[in-house]
Amino acid sequence: MAKLTHETWTDEVPTFAHDDETKGALATLKWAYDYYGDSIVYACSFGIEGIVLIDLIAKVNPKARIVFLDTGVHFQETYDVIDKIQERFPDLNIEMKKPSLNLEQQAEQYGDKLWEREPNQCCYIRKILPLEQTLSEVDAWISGLRRDQSETRKNTNFINKDNRFNKIKVCPLIHWTWKEIWRYVYKHDLPYNELHDKGYPSIGCAPCTAPAYNMDDLRSGRWTGNQKVECGLHES
Ligand code: SF4
Repeated sequence: MAKLTHETWTDEVPTFAHDDETKGALATLKWAYDYYGDSIVYACSFGIEGIVLIDLIAKVNPKARIVFLDTGVHFQETYDVIDKIQERFPDLNIEMKKPSLNLEQQAEQYGDKLWEREPNQCCYIRKILPLEQTLSEVDAWISGLRRDQSETRKNTNFINKDNRFNKIKVCPLIHWTWKEIWRYVYKHDLPYNELHDKGYPSIGCAPCTAPAYNMDDLRSGRWTGNQKVECGLHES
């Protein structure tokens, strides 16, 4: 049978039981790394789901390739947690993927603080294009989406046809709840972004992230005062 890619997609993709301790995440990751080998990458934002996923990935593939979209405007606390994770998992291959335009070049071409005027354009330059470039080298990518994060994510499966990037998107954490994520982090004493303790459940770039007080909408601190709710990395 042809390798499962965006082009050879079939609705009969493997699925996994989710009644075990990791709710199917380890089984999904084992399948994904066995099946895709080096042709899969985890695009990690180093939010709290990312920390859980990294711990699980390290059990399956200790030398896995992890890519962080380094927009250049992340909080210092985010860079700090990346250092701590690299220390804890020294064999992981963490890449800091930068956009082709640095902040000065972006300001010259599009004006200062593009995120305040045209956040979609800014995300396109600083996140989407770099991710597109990374994904051009692989068949599949891993994401930490959970079904209960938002309405648009509630139909996400373990293995998805990603029409945004024309790849296979593997989402091992779909059945995890917010509480389960935190229980796992505490149980395994994993390092995490200190901003989570200061009212930031979802953490993106510093200019576009505020504390969130609505715990029914954990992403409500992202692009506050703007219609925008997603970077554009996920269709669902
Ligand atoms: Fe730019 Fe904000 Fe998007 Fe970051 S989140 S890339 S600063 S618009």
